Amino acid sequence: MAFLVKKYGGTSVGTVERIQHVAQSIKLAREAGDDIVVVVSAMSGETNRLVAMAREVMPAVVDVRELDVLLSTGEQVTIALLSMALKEIGIDARSYTGAQVKMLTDSSHSKARILNIDTDPIMNDINAGRVVVVAGFQGVDEQGDITTLGRGGSDTSAVALAAALKCDECQIFTDVDGVYTTDPRVESRARRLDRITFEEMLEMASLGSKVLQIRAVEFAGKYNVPLRVLSSFKPGEGTLITYDDEENTMEQALVSGIAFNRDEAQITVTGVADQPGTAYAILGPISELNVEVDMIIQNIGADDTTDFTFTVHRDEYQRVIDFLNANNDKLGAKAISGDDRMAKLSIVGVGMRSHAGIASRMFRSLAEAGINMRLISTSEIKISVVIDEKYLELGVRALHEEFELAE
Ligand code: ADP
Ligand code: ASP
Ligand code: MG
Repeated sequence: MAFLVKKYGGTSVGTVERIQHVAQSIKLAREAGDDIVVVVSAMSGETNRLVAMAREVMPAVVDVRELDVLLSTGEQVTIALLSMALKEIGIDARSYTGAQVKMLTDSSHSKARILNIDTDPIMNDINAGRVVVVAGFQGVDEQGDITTLGRGGSDTSAVALAAALKCDECQIFTDVDGVYTTDPRVESRARRLDRITFEEMLEMASLGSKVLQIRAVEFAGKYNVPLRVLSSFKPGEGTLITYDDEENTMEQALVSGIAFNRDEAQITVTGVADQPGTAYAILGPISELNVEVDMIIQNIGADDTTDFTFTVHRDEYQRVIDFLNANNDKLGAKAISGDDRMAKLSIVGVGMRSHAGIASRMFRSLAEAGINMRLISTSEIKISVVIDEKYLELGVRALHEEFELAE
């Protein structure tokens, strides 16, 4: 007998038949004596469909408050259908929107942060023997406005509920049967990991592995919520995300996984003055535009000048280039150039801490594949390189081979 949060993603609830299948799985767990809070996403494709409609109505500046009202409807459909499907097979259930469970967030529409959850109504239902079905991805702010938590945010709703309710485990059911050494859609020889540390999972998620939302991993690590990724189609143990322990350290691989992100753009500002304040003069206004800058590299150029390269999300590329060109009278750059067809490829592993030579193996392997690295950045447990997007698949497979990650 356990107290569990079970979260089902879009594909797992993508049709009425799949919702009925989820209901059957929940029934089995109930019969085994588990208490269950279910968190569901919108049916697959639904959030994208709603975003596209909003863009049709408001192509230029999207009204974020209204967008959140619209997007939250996707999950509302699923909670009602799943509760009905459960009742239909004799399981007492009750659905709740984010506002109904008082999933209190800040007011940053479309990327709100959870501040507090009122657990009383949920516990009353659980104590009465009901399954509680909560809409993922959504909350409510102090003013009573509906907020959403960012794409993939139902993972975070699930972990936050598991933390607040002190559940035994938070189970994320999806269309793969765990966390793999890399995205199995790109490398079919990718291997499922039995365990991965919070630290590694956080790096993987931050570097582009969208199997779990970054904030969900952060939250689970912070509140020590045991987190497991499982398939909603195929039975199995899945992958447990856990704190590092002695036993695991012994058998640690050097590299646990390969993450990648296709949405990168690189911008280079050439020939700016090499003096205090230059980086701030370029990046300060960009952050005021609300654009996130990722990698930053500064090179010493000729004649007391410097070249400055950084990466941004591909969708922001044109806006940043236009902005820099418009302000170049102040910056005094000789040239502003860039490329919006870049990708970031990273290797992640806590084993890197204690082993030298991993970077040179990575660079050799990419060189042998004929792939040019434009930017490199390292931290204790990861190495990232920026390459041309067209070589991404090739690079993923080369590194998967080099670090012997296949079955
Ligand atoms: P859901 O709709 O259930 O939230 P997502 O599409 O958000 O599912 O996440 C599951 C997908 O994540 C998988 O189909 C897979 O293609 C992708 N993915 C990326 N990296 C990995 C990885 N390292 N391990 C497993 N899946 C990964
Ligand atoms: N429905 C939302 C999305 O597509 C949230 C989620 O699925 O986690 O991003
Ligand atoms: Mg997801």
